[in-house]
Amino acid sequence: MSLIHQYKNNGYNIVLDINSGSVHVVDDLVYDAVALLDKGMSKEEAAGKLKEHYSSEAVGSALEECQCLIDQGMLFTEDIYENAIETFAKRETVVKALCLHIAHDCNLACRYCFAEEGEYHGKRDLMSYEVGRQALDFLIANSGNRRNLEVDFFGGEPLMNWEVVKKLVEYGREQEKIHDKKFRFTLTTNGVQLNDEIMEFANKEMANVVLSVDGRKEIHDLMRPFPKGAGSYDLVIPKFQKFAELRNQDKYYVRGTFTRHNLDFSKDVLHLADLGFKQISVEPVVAGENEEYALREEDLPVIYEEYDRLAKEMIRREKAGEGFNFFHFMIDLTGGPCVYKRLSGCGSGTEYLAVTPWGDLYPCHQFVGEEKYLMGNVFEGIKKPQIQEEFKGCNVYTKEACKDCFARFYCSGGCAANSYKFHGTIQDTYEIGCKLQRKRVECAIMIKAALAE
Ligand code: SF4
Ligand code: SF4
Repeated sequence: MSLIHQYKNNGYNIVLDINSGSVHVVDDLVYDAVALLDKGMSKEEAAGKLKEHYSSEAVGSALEECQCLIDQGMLFTEDIYENAIETFAKRETVVKALCLHIAHDCNLACRYCFAEEGEYHGKRDLMSYEVGRQALDFLIANSGNRRNLEVDFFGGEPLMNWEVVKKLVEYGREQEKIHDKKFRFTLTTNGVQLNDEIMEFANKEMANVVLSVDGRKEIHDLMRPFPKGAGSYDLVIPKFQKFAELRNQDKYYVRGTFTRHNLDFSKDVLHLADLGFKQISVEPVVAGENEEYALREEDLPVIYEEYDRLAKEMIRREKAGEGFNFFHFMIDLTGGPCVYKRLSGCGSGTEYLAVTPWGDLYPCHQFVGEEKYLMGNVFEGIKKPQIQEEFKGCNVYTKEACKDCFARFYCSGGCAANSYKFHGTIQDTYEIGCKLQRKRVECAIMIKAALAE
């Protein structure tokens, strides 16, 4: 198994030392030297090979440079995390975040909606205040010593049940004083019912807001129409622009999805940036291959080029003082907040749970409606701890594909829901998603290298 990943992008020769996370931008000679050492050659053997193309003196100093990095623990480092995994799997888990399905109903009919226009394989329904309150009580009771708790108001479309959202925020604020907790609320919305009153409330109470928009008008309207077919772009964009400005272009993001219909999605990202948005996320759709808009293996080269195009344009804009954040290129090269997070990702099924309008608990929003993953409910608590255990035991060391993947510490083993969707188990990976993830990590590292110059 290789301990490094090396690649060329946008004129940079990049060497990533996988386990330490060190990134080196090197010249052609050092790049070639690292490749030979990685093949298991001794320094002498590598020198012999390199001298066929480079001068003896240059080869000597390149190999010295490699040795220096090895001595400093920045090249060919061994994995120090694998031993942490046992403690990790046995850890006591507390619930620290809930995704409240405030409304299983929606006023749009987005074509790729995993929630089936808010219905989630079931009936349309709105969460009552009583169920929501019980959910917050459940969260407090199961959060142990953890003080900061997160609650996402999610749907369908949560604004279709806005009065309950407001009452729950009020209840949460009362309870946090009593229990010495701090709620961090997030709202995800399609913007159809957004108005000044809602923005004002959200700006006071919501630590983050997620605004669903897909990019260019023709793309957005194609994928995010009203049930009768009209597009929603013209209605929501001005409201989202105002909302983002009111939040000082911070603590929000516009979030879109690209599909086979817009493989040229860099144009959608840049369109959103041109509209003034500074926090942007546009993600690949995850859909079965029978859907006409699903991404296919043969689309990958075009998508890779799009990521490259976007990365170069982002560097240009950043240097010109017109930069913006693209979430999928934001990786933490220092290794993230804690080793456990690096190893197992989003926390679904363990620290993060989804709650249906009637109070059922699932590992995350994508599992809602999968009866096999019904974990319990907010009134009686977790009834199937074995589901929690299954998610707890899922990490980059238990998934075959992740063991050798250079992106494992940035991706943390991928999305359990996608794995389940494509392979019927949470212990696998979704190959197209992995290939795109690796490409994004490469682009993200290249951007950091370019901006560090
Ligand atoms: S990209 Fe795929 S293989 Fe690599 S760590 Fe993530 S889930 Fe695992
Ligand atoms: S399992 Fe996948 S869909 Fe669910 S919260 Fe984690 S990353 Fe998101």
